[in-house]
Formats: sequence, C-alpha cells, structure tokens
Amino acid sequence: MKLKDVIYNQLLKEESGRRSGKGYKRDKFYPSEFGKCKREVYYDFKGAPKDAQDGRTLLTFRIGDAVHNIIKTILYNAKIMTADEVKVFDADTNTSGRFDGGVLNSATSKQELIEIKSTNHFSFEAMDEIELADDKYRGQLVVYMHSGVRNVGNVLVINKNTSEIKEWELPLESAEAFYAEKVKPYFDACAKVIKKRTPPVREYTREDWQCQYCSFRTKCWEGVPLPEAPKFEPKADAVKPGEEILAASVVTYARLKAQIKDLENELESAESVVKQWFDATAEEALTNSGVTIKRVKRTESEWDIDFIKSKLTPEVYAKLLRFDAKLLQAEVKAKAIDPVILETAKKIKLAGYSLKLEKPGKAASEKEAT
Ligand code: SF4
Repeated sequence: MKLKDVIYNQLLKEESGRRSGKGYKRDKFYPSEFGKCKREVYYDFKGAPKDAQDGRTLLTFRIGDAVHNIIKTILYNAKIMTADEVKVFDADTNTSGRFDGGVLNSATSKQELIEIKSTNHFSFEAMDEIELADDKYRGQLVVYMHSGVRNVGNVLVINKNTSEIKEWELPLESAEAFYAEKVKPYFDACAKVIKKRTPPVREYTREDWQCQYCSFRTKCWEGVPLPEAPKFEPKADAVKPGEEILAASVVTYARLKAQIKDLENELESAESVVKQWFDATAEEALTNSGVTIKRVKRTESEWDIDFIKSKLTPEVYAKLLRFDAKLLQAEVKAKAIDPVILETAKKIKLAGYSLKLEKPGKAASEKEAT
C-alpha cells in the first residue's frame, strides 16, 4: 500500500461528493471570481462539467486552507482578531461571499478587514512591493469593503515555501475608486453574459496559463483542433551525405553528446567546491594554480514602502494604488514624486553570485598597462 495513493484517492472521493454537474445551481457571483475569464464564469453558472482535478492539486488547496487557519489562530492569540469568516452580500454586483476576518487596529482603534492568501515562491516573488498585490486579490477585497466593514482593508500573502509574509493596505477611498472603475463594470458584464444561451468569446488562448488552470478547459476547447506544425519536406538544395561519412558522424555525435554530459557533471562538482570557498570567505576573486576565478554579484532592489508612503500626498498615493508599480517612475518623470524619495527608499541587496573565469593573460596584461 502506498500512503500517497490513499491520500490522493481520499481527496478525489471527497471532491466528487462536493460538486456534481447535475442539480448544481447558483444565482450569485463570488467576489473571488473578479477578473476571471467570463466564459469560465458562464460555464460555472450553467453547471457545465468540470475537468477532473488530480489528487496533488486538491492537496495543494488543502495546504492553502491550513496555512490560512494557522494565520488566523495566531491573530486570535495576539488578541486583535475581532471577527471570523464574515458573510457579506453586495447587492450592487450581486456577489456573495465571506471575508476572512476583522482585526482591531490599535493605532486607530478602528476595525479593519483582512483577506489572507497563500502562494508559491514564484508567484510571491512576482508580486509587486508597491502595487496592492494582484488585481484579483484587490477586486475581491474591494467587494468586501464595499459591502462589509467600511474601513481599511488588508491583504496578507504568505509564501508557502519560505513563510515570508507580504502585506498591503488599501484605504477605503482607493477601494471605492477601484470598485467603480473595475469591479462593478466587470460583474455587470458577467450578469449580461449569464443571461445568454451561448457562451461568450474565449478571452485567452489554449497556451495561456488562465486556460491551463481553468476547470472548463476541455468543455471550452471541445471540437477545436490543436494546430499542428506542417510535416517535414526535403530541402530542394540539400545534398544527402554518403553512407560512410554519415555512419562516422552519427558515432561522433553520440560520443560527444555523452562526453558533454560527463563534462557538465564534472564542471558542476568543481563549481560547487569553488563556490564553497567563496561562501566561506569575503573574497571577490580566487587565484590558484595560475587560474583566476571572479565572483560576479547578482543584486535585487527592495523598496521601503512605508517611507515612500509617508512622503507622498494622499492624491498621489491613491493614484499609485491603482497603477502598475512600474509607473512609479513615470510619476517621477511627471514631477509628481521627488526622485530623491525613490533613491532613498531603494535598498540594494545581494541575491547571489555567478562565477567568471578570467581570461588567461588578462591579469598580466592589466599589470603591464599600469
Ligand atoms: S479554457 Fe480559457 S478561454 Fe475557455 S473558459 Fe477557461 S479561461 Fe476562458
């Protein structure tokens, strides 16, 4: 018996009991649907058959739920959690859902709303430090803010690989602006779509990650053949090599390919020893046996968000919350932000290093030149 099979099979059994296509009916949107492909929302409303999920994906969801509960327990223990899983209905968008909880801000003595998310390292790193996480998180939070606790909202995102936490704060004014600009029009468009008898146009191509992760991928692309690359055709100007040279070249190709693999393995193990030396020292170059290897820094920048926020006018801050972080630079160009603020807020940190082999004779010729 393999325990992992027991676990995956149990999850699949539980999932199949949770939702079957037949009899599945809904009449409201979920705040978490904000930003989804409207064709996917249409299929869900119509109870279209979903693609089966594998046990591993279901376990990933369960781990996400567990992380979520751990964070809430810690906030409870810290005695700041004032509400848990609050059900809300927003009549303006016909959305219904639960937000994760309310917390008491000791500085303002006001209730704030929190939404907890967990994600993998890759997505976590891609999240912008300045922008309020992803549009989809913001949209969800904004619906809750519009209909529930009408005060500051917070998104906490936990990196499932490293347990790092990023947090974003969204003032009510920015939330309302985002609601009017994006959230309400999105759900209005969904409301129109679900009244129709045919699904709306596909918003993505089969290769896009949205389709890769969509539960209705099979249904959506049913009957649409996958484009195939044309067959190989002989080139008009190609000359076929003779049997003898062909046989010799095939053998050479196979031998060199195998050697390359061996060399790569050898290089990897030599490199790891050299890196161990660098890791144990503060040196930037290693000269040994007449060879010089340098280490080249890889850096990343970090922003002091609190510092930037403290220097911005409320208008510029509210505007930036709706922008892509890269537009921060545009605000500098537009003279809305003093470039010194950005320079001061930017910290450079070491993100690792790579090795560079100094060309033989280079060091000597540099010496001669000086
Ligand atoms: S498969 Fe892609 S296009 Fe089709 S509903 Fe899902 S996300 Fe939309």
